[in-house]
Amino acid sequence: MMRYVSTRGQSEALDFEGVLLRGLAPDGGLYVPETLPKFSAEQLHSMAKLPYAELALEVTWPFVEGFMPKDEYAALIKETYAEFHHPAVAPLKQLDGKLWLLEQFHGPTLAFKDFALQLLGRLLNLALARKGERGVVMGATSGDTGSAAIEGCRHGDQLDVFILHPHERVSEVQRRQMTTVTDPNVFNIALQGDFDDCQALVKASFGDQSFLGDRRLIAVNSINWARVMAQIVYFFYAGLRLGAPDRSVSFCVPSANFGHMFAGYLASQMGLPVDRFVVATNHNDALDRSIKGGVLERQPLKPSLSPSMDIVVSSNFERLLYALGGNDAQAIHTMMSTFAEQGEAQIPEKIMQAASNLYSGAVSDDETVATIKRWHASTGEVLDPHTAIGVRVAENYLGDSPMICMATAHPAKFAEAVVAAGLEPSALPATMQDLMQREERYEVLPNDLAQVQRYVADRI
Ligand SMILES: *Cc1c(COP(=O)(O)O)cnc(C)c1O
Repeated sequence: MMRYVSTRGQSEALDFEGVLLRGLAPDGGLYVPETLPKFSAEQLHSMAKLPYAELALEVTWPFVEGFMPKDEYAALIKETYAEFHHPAVAPLKQLDGKLWLLEQFHGPTLAFKDFALQLLGRLLNLALARKGERGVVMGATSGDTGSAAIEGCRHGDQLDVFILHPHERVSEVQRRQMTTVTDPNVFNIALQGDFDDCQALVKASFGDQSFLGDRRLIAVNSINWARVMAQIVYFFYAGLRLGAPDRSVSFCVPSANFGHMFAGYLASQMGLPVDRFVVATNHNDALDRSIKGGVLERQPLKPSLSPSMDIVVSSNFERLLYALGGNDAQAIHTMMSTFAEQGEAQIPEKIMQAASNLYSGAVSDDETVATIKRWHASTGEVLDPHTAIGVRVAENYLGDSPMICMATAHPAKFAEAVVAAGLEPSALPATMQDLMQREERYEVLPNDLAQVQRYVADRI
């Protein structure tokens, strides 16, 4: 049975159920599996033929084993990915001789977060039902996470979901994807403040949960191990379809909190031959600076045309640094203490040296728009702004292996960038044609902790 340890080495190890229900470790670190399963070339050859849900079962079972029977887990995964609107779940599309897109936007909310949150919602519900508890999911969103979390949890009869978004500061499509969900356990709060205010209220609520009585508060942000785990699968899926393990592949990931890219790194540690990992950011480029310069930094947030990549600190980067340093929790503990005190820290030399196949780049809004325009002209493909950033950076790091760019969102979700590129806004897929006509339900609340907590307490 897999055990999970903290990257800062000062918390007790937990089992799968433990990490499922917890966010950060008590020592401030993130949970990672103590060991990784490794697939042989022979195993990978046989896995190459599997449909998505069956591959997901094989790749993730070693992490879940002991939590539930395998046949029940298989059924849960099958149900999860049956909700995607493409028979391939994550289809690959060739963009040119070297570049491929892995389309990750065929899930219920049209962005890659569906891969993890649809599974997480089901696993949480199961864990709570077994304990005879009801849980409260509380989250802040600047867009994609909120709708994916709502969609993932709304069927959970053990769960109530409260999502805070900044009032009048998310796109209409994103707002409607959250507010038109009518299940009685889903509550949308439009906070009179910005995304940081939303996050601060959620954080404060985790800090003091007394307003909830005996209910358990649950985090669904991307530090949750089960989310990272679910994302390992499609790196194998794409790589195996393009010739791995007989040849290496490369990946480019539009990154923010870094959960996505870290999952790719784990795939490579589990046996997938990867040539290059390319990390792409928008002008909120702390990750790019860390990878190029070997320092952790904090910068003020600047809104962009790719809002799901607007971030100040990439939490999951710590997991990568821990792994690259050979699981040296003491080094991470020291580095993160310095970072917390000084807002800046040097990444140890031996960790940077281990990152030799990690590349990065940052892309401005103007370049994002130009990239959408250019690839539309040459291929007819409309890239969403997040995907365009990935493709733009990937172009700088092409090698001998096929470069797989993660297409993280559907262009219909981010009309502003598409229109700025001089293109018609993309149509919503058939299942969402009536989104703009559906009735909305949300509560506008002031940026006030007591009022938000009272709203939550009155409804659970
Ligand atoms: C969340 C998100 C990202 C960034 O993913 P991380 O795991 O936070 O690095 C990129 N693109 C889109 C569309 C997203 O929703």
